[in-house]
Order: sequence, then C-alpha cells, then structure tokens
Amino acid sequence: MREQLIFNLSREGRKGYSLAPNDIRELTPEETLPAEFLRKEPADLPEIPESEVVRHFIRLSNLNYHVDKNMYPLGSCTMKYNPKVNDAACDLAGFSELHPLQPEKTVQGALQMMYELSGMLAEIAGMAAVSLQPAAGAHGELAGILLIRKYHEARGSKRTKLLVVDSAHGTNPASAAIAGYSIVSVKSASDGRTDLADLREKLDDDVAAIMLTNPNTIGLFEKEILEIERMVHENGSLLYMDGANMNALLGITRPGDMGFDVVHYNLHKSFSAPHGGGGPGSGPVGVSEKLIPYLPVPIVEKIVGPEGTVYRLNSECSGSIGRMMNFYGNFAVLIRAYTYIRMLGSEGLRRVSENAIINANYLLGRLDERYELPYPKPVMHEFCLSGDRQKKQHGVRTLDIAKRILDYGFHAPTIYFPLIVSEALMIEPTETETRESLDMFADALLSIADEAETSPELVLSAPVSTPVKRLDEAQASRQLNICCPG
Ligand SMILES: *Cc1c(COP(=O)(O)O)cnc(C)c1O
Repeated sequence: MREQLIFNLSREGRKGYSLAPNDIRELTPEETLPAEFLRKEPADLPEIPESEVVRHFIRLSNLNYHVDKNMYPLGSCTMKYNPKVNDAACDLAGFSELHPLQPEKTVQGALQMMYELSGMLAEIAGMAAVSLQPAAGAHGELAGILLIRKYHEARGSKRTKLLVVDSAHGTNPASAAIAGYSIVSVKSASDGRTDLADLREKLDDDVAAIMLTNPNTIGLFEKEILEIERMVHENGSLLYMDGANMNALLGITRPGDMGFDVVHYNLHKSFSAPHGGGGPGSGPVGVSEKLIPYLPVPIVEKIVGPEGTVYRLNSECSGSIGRMMNFYGNFAVLIRAYTYIRMLGSEGLRRVSENAIINANYLLGRLDERYELPYPKPVMHEFCLSGDRQKKQHGVRTLDIAKRILDYGFHAPTIYFPLIVSEALMIEPTETETRESLDMFADALLSIADEAETSPELVLSAPVSTPVKRLDEAQASRQLNICCPG
C-alpha cells in the first residue's frame, strides 16, 4: 500500500484529543495577541485521531532503513549500532531539562561531563587539549584549519596552501577552501597510500599544513607516517589528521604519537551517536601543545579550591579563534559519547577497533574473488572494492549493484568514493555485526555477482522490491516529489 500524506488522511472534525469542560472564560485570540500577529486564515492542519497519527508514522518508519533494522555497511560513515543506554543517559532530567543560559553554579554536572569528555578524548588520541564545540566532522576540519592559520599568523608567516591527498573525503578540500587556502592535491601511490615523492615535490615554503586521513579512505594505514611527519615539520608546516576513521585506532595507536598537530573526531561515528539524515553530529578538535592558545571558546575549566571543586566556562582567551557554535556544541551528542566511552572503558575501546578490523578483513576475504580489489590486503576497518569486472564483462555498473543490494534487504555501501578507485564499492561493516550478519551480507553480494553474469537485466532494473523503484537519479534530486513515489 502506498502511504498517503497525512493531509490526505484528514477528515473535518476528527480529533486526536478531548479535554474536560473549561470553567474559566476562554480568551479570544484578539485579547491575547497584537493584531498584526494574528492569522488571516486558519492554519491548514490535518484533523486526524491519535490512533491514525501513530499508525501513519509507524508505517513511514517501516519504510525507512536504519541500523536498528539491519547492517548498514556505508563505508567511511561508521554506521555502528548505537547502544540504547546512551539515550537513557541523555534523558536524565539533570541533562535534558537544562537551559543553556542557566547560571554556571546550577549546571556543574553538565560542565563536569564536558570537562571529563575532553580529557578522555585527549587521552584516546594522544593530544594535549580538546575543544568540544564543532558540530560535525567537517566543522571540526574548519576549526582545525582556522587554528593552523592562527598559528602561522602568530609567527608573522602568510602561508597560503594546504596539501590534501587525492583519496581524501570531499570535506577536506572544501573546509580548506572555506578557510581561504588554495588546495594542492597530493597523489596516492600504487599501494593506495600517500606518494612520498609527490609530497616532497609539493612541500614548499608556502604550505601551511597537510591533511591526512589515517587509516585512509580505502582502509589502509599510512605506514610511512613518521617519515611524513618529519618532512612536514622540517618544512615548518603542520600535520592535520582527519580522524573520521578513528574506529580503527582506539586503544591501539594515537594520532598524537604519530606527530599530528590537529585531529578532529566524529563522535557520531566512532563514539556511537545516531547519525544520517543530516545530524546532529559532533566534531571535537584535538590539538598539540603549541595550538592550545588558539582553541575555540568557551573552554570548560576545573578549579580546585578550598571550598571544593568548581567547573567554569572561560571565554577570555585572547588568542582564541573565537566561537564555532552557539553555547557549547551539540550537547546531547556529547552525553552519548561520554556514556559510550565510560561503558566500554579502555579495554572495551580497544576491542571495538580490533573487532572492527577483524570484521572488515573477514568480509573482504569472502568477497575479493568475485569483486576486484584494487589495493592489496590486509585492511584496517574498511575496504574498497571495484565493480570494474562486472562493468566490463556484463555492462553492470556499481550503481546497479548498489540498487540490487536493496532488494536483498540491506542498505547499499558507499559508491563512487574515494575518487581514486573506479566503480568504487566501499564497505565498512563495523564491530557491531555478528559473523552471521556479515555472512548474510556477503551471500547477497556474491549472489549479485552471479546475477550480473547470468541475468544482468535483473540487476539493471533493480530495485524491484522497495516502495520506490529505480529513479532517474538526476531528476529525483531536482524535482523532489514527496507525494506520489513510484
Ligand atoms: C564523515 C567523514 C568526514 C566528514 O564528517 P561529517 O561529520 O560528516 O561532517 C570527513 N572525513 C571522512 C573520512 C569522513 O568519513
């Protein structure tokens, strides 16, 4: 059945509530509001009983795909299962009923949580200090790049370039451009890692920093990171780490120990806050000692005095790049990350990454005979296959394979990213999948490889079992039609 708009379900006079008789005189709108704020026409709201409102939204939610339904193998996005205890912590009245303008002495618990979370994140990544302000990974990148700019400005230097590796996430060059830098692309070598010769060539006096992702977007660890660190710092440039792939490193190694000056975290990826559909996220930024004076304000401070411990917000750091957000960042995401880290402890965090790596390599082992693997195994927490063979031999593109996966009841992997892999099919299973669910997903992809050989027309017309069938991709994004899918 096709779901109607809730407006189409409306019938005049149907109500979702009933109230006891009122023994106080009702005020008319004219008595309560200035005339210019009154509606000229009544609001066009659907009239519908409570039972039908609930059914409508439950039916819609059943059409949706989410990580509580099945595996969500979207590479780079770390769509792990989000433990419900995180939400329980958010719902505690001491957090959920706070107002951001309350006096500091009445929000000591919230400030303590933020102070401790900053400390834990600093410890996890080996950084000297962390700001929780940025609202997403990309926003953390912007904060990090502004910090780098301040650092160079304070030394009277006007470097204008940022180096970005060609396998990077699109937000890297975008953030660099927003901060006013010109972008120089560094090549990947034939093993999928940064090409050191190309880096050496492009590293001149005008380079403010290089942005690296480690492990990179094809799930490979930059083995030459210490050599890269030496080259970059000898040149007076700084080293930025895109930390979106931290799910591979927790408790195993730390960006700070590799010599990075700045790193952003994606709390909604590595630290299990629900995401997708546009947020909200949280992208704290961690820095080495030399960048501390420029961190965004306010900074939560802990003051131990004769009357006990007090937490306060300090907005008076003269070197600061300023505010990145209203108030304190996306506070509820911070509570979820805090809860997640405290529930797991240091041993548990390490197991997260170990299992993420084992799961990725297990899944890859089941798939790489049928799909091309452009760069050699082993991988870290994710991998990137290529649909080149299916395209050349059977005219089935990666887009078609991704559509067909929907018929098997899974969300599609990331496709056509990173740009250095043709017909890319990028898969990140995460640690929260069992061996059985990994096998089901592998079976689906293997049977699609069979279908591409024996009945390519089936794959080309997929999806056939979803509420919305194959769309014209370009038209669908230009002429959004939310009333009548199909
Ligand atoms: C997700 C991601 C980003 C951007 O993070 P957002 O929170 O989506 O803004 C940057 N780099 C990589 C590698 C990512 O996977």
